[in-house]
Amino acid sequence: MTGKKEKSSEKREKRLQEISLLRTIPYSDHQRWWSEETLAVVTGANRGIGFEIARQLAGHGLTVILTSRDTGVGIEAAKVLQEGGFNVDVHQLNILDEESVSEFTKWIKEKYGGVDILVNNAGVNYNIGSGNSMEFAKQVIDTNYYGTKNMVKAMIPFMRPSAAGARIVNVSSRLGKLNGRRSRIEDEALREKLSNLETLSEELIDNMVSTFLQQVEDNTWQSGGWPQKFTDYAVSKLAVNLYSMLMANQLAERPEGGKIYINCYCPGWVKTAMTGWSGNISAEHAADTGVWLALLPNKEVTGKLFAERRELKL
Ligand code: NDP
Repeated sequence: MTGKKEKSSEKREKRLQEISLLRTIPYSDHQRWWSEETLAVVTGANRGIGFEIARQLAGHGLTVILTSRDTGVGIEAAKVLQEGGFNVDVHQLNILDEESVSEFTKWIKEKYGGVDILVNNAGVNYNIGSGNSMEFAKQVIDTNYYGTKNMVKAMIPFMRPSAAGARIVNVSSRLGKLNGRRSRIEDEALREKLSNLETLSEELIDNMVSTFLQQVEDNTWQSGGWPQKFTDYAVSKLAVNLYSMLMANQLAERPEGGKIYINCYCPGWVKTAMTGWSGNISAEHAADTGVWLALLPNKEVTGKLFAERRELKL
């Protein structure tokens, strides 16, 4: 191994050890604001990071609704957790299908009355390795951004008021960091507008993704100043991060007891179907920061982007 390779392998090993160590830090009893009555919904939980988030939340003693766009696959995945003695219920949910979302919220309301935690994990990416095809750009933007937004809008009315506050965790990516060093939009004026809560709006975010999709259609996106790596995915996650920042600000206006805290996190580069199992951390490790954020005793944290070592990225 060359010196450079050795160093980066040592660095990776150290990072993995740090993540493992973090995962062993328990929540002390006085920090536990949740119980088995606390209800957490996880989207795209039939496999990968979503399944692990569902497993770990259930392991902390919450009741988890494992959702899956395929009913049969969801039932099978839930069975694994139920047989492990966890409190897990299951329901079909396709975040892009209005009818499915509406059917799901109706079921939640009738069966449970409301939810305390929403984890927006469902997502897609069609680029692997150094590929940067835009063939599925619309599907990527629709699922990752509009799907997440659909769920936030649909679930807010059903989020239960509580002293601890309800929580939304969006599984996002540091590729969508507004001022990321290696992957960001080039238009400085737009970046400035997007980073300022005075000028940031849903319309501005929607316009940004529409402009991107229009350029993909016209085949002019390459000169559009978009992130160079996993471009469609990076734009979709940028939109998620910005929308979360915007919502955090709006939700902070709610009265004490009715607050909802919303944060994003990047799970790292994870061994799941999405990366063709080429990531460098397991889904189990990758789920940790999401679970930590969902259960965070510190209520002041909202509108932030975290990385897999539970560290702040935004
Ligand atoms: P997987 O491909 O293993 O899982 C993705 C999940 O999302 C599947 O359950 C899939 O369902 C579901 N899904 C996709 N579209 C929809 C939809 N329209 N409605 C409902 N569910 C849907 O990927 P990961 O576990 O790796 O990814 C989970 C999240 O983590 C994603 O948001 C991803 O962007 C994010 N992430 C992943 C990284 C990684 O390295 N893996 C890095 C950074 C972020 P189905 O089984 O039916 O296809």
